[in-house]
Amino acid sequence: MISVNSMEAEILIENIENFPNLPKEAVIKQDVLRRGLNFSKDALKIATGYKPKDYFIFTFDLVQLKEMDQSENLKAPEEIRVKGGVFGLLQTIISVRINPDSPYKVELQEGILSLTIDGVNLGEVEYHPIPDYYKSEMVNGKPIGEICPVIEWGYLLYLTVYRMCQYFNKSEQCQFCDINTNFVQQRKAGRSYTGIKSVEEILEALSYVDEFDTTAKAYTLTGGSVIEDLQGEGEADFYLRFAEAINNKFPNRWIAKAVVQAWKKEDCQRLKDAGIDIYHPNYEVWGKEMFAKICPGKERVIGFENWIERVVQSAEVFGAESVIPNFVGGVEMNKVTGFKDIDEAIASTSEGLDFFMSKGITPRFTTWCPEPLAALGPQESAPLEYFCKLLLAWKNTFEKYELPSPKGYGEPGVGKAVFSVSAFMDVIGFEGR
Ligand code: SF4
Repeated sequence: MISVNSMEAEILIENIENFPNLPKEAVIKQDVLRRGLNFSKDALKIATGYKPKDYFIFTFDLVQLKEMDQSENLKAPEEIRVKGGVFGLLQTIISVRINPDSPYKVELQEGILSLTIDGVNLGEVEYHPIPDYYKSEMVNGKPIGEICPVIEWGYLLYLTVYRMCQYFNKSEQCQFCDINTNFVQQRKAGRSYTGIKSVEEILEALSYVDEFDTTAKAYTLTGGSVIEDLQGEGEADFYLRFAEAINNKFPNRWIAKAVVQAWKKEDCQRLKDAGIDIYHPNYEVWGKEMFAKICPGKERVIGFENWIERVVQSAEVFGAESVIPNFVGGVEMNKVTGFKDIDEAIASTSEGLDFFMSKGITPRFTTWCPEPLAALGPQESAPLEYFCKLLLAWKNTFEKYELPSPKGYGEPGVGKAVFSVSAFMDVIGFEGR
């Protein structure tokens, strides 16, 4: 039993003790993700020599750029890797979400870069080195980290080829999403940020990765939804041209993943034929009523039942184990339209997990970050107890159906997982404390 003199640390310890079937690393990771990170001046200074936060799609920050008094948006690292500390943590990789008010702080303690909660040391922190391919210069002068950033400790190349979403045009965007407002904010702050990337610049950036990098094993092709058309093409044709070009130039070089909407089966077949291995038709939140409230555009254009039906049908194209739809863990507890009760929220989300997993389809989740410029507005994230129960529900259902570890996520398990925006990969195979 660790004794601490801090309310924040006490709540964390209580949750760690209440959930012995979860690794303590996973509980801490979820709490850091839901609360965000605060950096000391020294910790930021050190970070400038490491891989920066590239804002690969959304902000995933709890404050606006203009509220970052230390210019954290320009200095903070993409991720931290923490190990040791009072709990003797195995190494754990956590995505950086900036929040100067977070109780979780990266700071120097006795000269060692550390993660702390109210001064309690949770472990030594490392930042990810700048990948070798980041030193390459693009012909058009853009930073390569903007065209082809890497996350998950070097494992995943993230190709957001369209940095806007047309659901914003009619104010029917997913209520947790800040993709367009992030774009405006970043441009205003002077960051090089490309609205629509070209096939040529993507291929050029990937050629540097191909030449200089041996760590990345997968790429994700994604961007906002196309409802009308984009450069004269519908959504499927727009994204397919990138997939085809990458596959033609670098066949089987990386595991190829696409995060797009739930497409008709024939378009899924085209995507598979274009070289995409793993399909992520993200349903965001389970349940027709909640889906309509959280994703009004997706409900109008495709509809919840149709979306789910298409996810199931896509398994006939990709194979069930290669369909991995995402949901935003915790958004169903938002203060505007969400459940008030943790167990009700978990029961609803678990129904979706059971529905998909019984068919061999493994949903994964990201941790909801209440970004201030999303429609739901700034608010507290779902409680830590919710995330612990969600992790358990995910793990129990995954084990019930004896599913294989999700493809394209690297090694599973505590101390090994690289997926940094939730702890679902960290809990696989854990047998309890
Ligand atoms: S579909 Fe929803 S989550 Fe995806 S970019 Fe558009 S608004 Fe955001």
